[in-house]
Amino acid sequence: MAGNEAGADVLDVVIVGAGPAGLTAGIYCSRGRLRTVVLERNMAGGQIALTELVENYPGFPDGISGFELAERMKRQAVKFGAELREIQAVLALRPGPDRCYTVETDRGEVRARTVILAPGVEAKRLGIPGEAEFIGRGVSWCATCDGALYKDRTVAVIGGGDSAVEEGLFLAKFADKVYLVHRRDRLRAHATAQERAFANPKFEFVWDSVPREIVGSEAVEALEIENVKTGERRRLPVAGVFIYIGQRPNTDWLQGAVDLDEQGYILTDERMQTSLPGVFACGDAHANQLKQIAMAVGEGALAAVQAERYLDELECPGAPQAHAAERPSPGA
Ligand code: NAP
Repeated sequence: MAGNEAGADVLDVVIVGAGPAGLTAGIYCSRGRLRTVVLERNMAGGQIALTELVENYPGFPDGISGFELAERMKRQAVKFGAELREIQAVLALRPGPDRCYTVETDRGEVRARTVILAPGVEAKRLGIPGEAEFIGRGVSWCATCDGALYKDRTVAVIGGGDSAVEEGLFLAKFADKVYLVHRRDRLRAHATAQERAFANPKFEFVWDSVPREIVGSEAVEALEIENVKTGERRRLPVAGVFIYIGQRPNTDWLQGAVDLDEQGYILTDERMQTSLPGVFACGDAHANQLKQIAMAVGEGALAAVQAERYLDELECPGAPQAHAAERPSPGA
């Protein structure tokens, strides 16, 4: 364990978020003998826990369910000594006078000498009439959770990215028809998913169209769409509307604490350090070029190693690299 002159209640590292980035950081930090707490919202496991099948994470040639992958990462972090702590919300990050940071949550405060931010992203909303009203009654952001409810029924999927096409393919296992409503006439999704969707007889592509209203009484009955080229409006008779129009970072609570880009993604240097010394960021909420599990895992590992080096520097100012090199490598 790294030295802890700031007091017994002060951790070496607190990791905010328990998706692939946060859990990988947890594995590396705890295996590096740092006192590590991972804060996890609702024990949810991050966005991957909602993914039916992960096919592009190395080591699983037949794919693995996102939930299972998240569970395995959690077990690995706990095995090396990380503590997973359940919270509902993280509220603020505050630097203290003693080179410690306080992370304020709805379940109290956690103090640590370093912080790794891996808060992930959440699904964007359309902001159209009927969307909020029919949540849980036909409007969903999670095909894995709700898909089986739509056996032999018709659903609409909104968006043209990886999530829309992959989740649409999952829904097609249950539904009798899947409208894929996209605002352009070309998909953004990766080629394999596109090929599968084009070959699936249950798919009907509705190009150049955007949703305008979700209509129903007790539950969803139709989706009103508008063709952006012709202005024509029509109603698709659907029982479910699954929305995959992108994501936004869970960083509202970090406004004013660390530098964010204009979309709210966390800015770092190449060592994953944010604008605050000792505070690192990784995963989907980090301003990076690729939102993939493999990327999140790599960034989580790098953030953990850099946090460890930072702690070494606090203990032994002036010789950070030499001191760090003497420690057993967390990757060994
Ligand atoms: P995304 O790639 O940002 O795609 C969002 C889609 O929604 C785009 O097709 C976009 O249209 C459309 N859209 C955006 N705003 C809209 C609006 N207001 N109304 C209607 N349509 C709108 O989001 P994602 O599919 O959730 O993926 C997020 C990230 O996770 C991506 O980097 C993706 O590669 C990654 N991901 C990877 C996998 C995988 O590797 N298997 C699986 C899921 C997600 P335009 O195309 O016109 O912009």
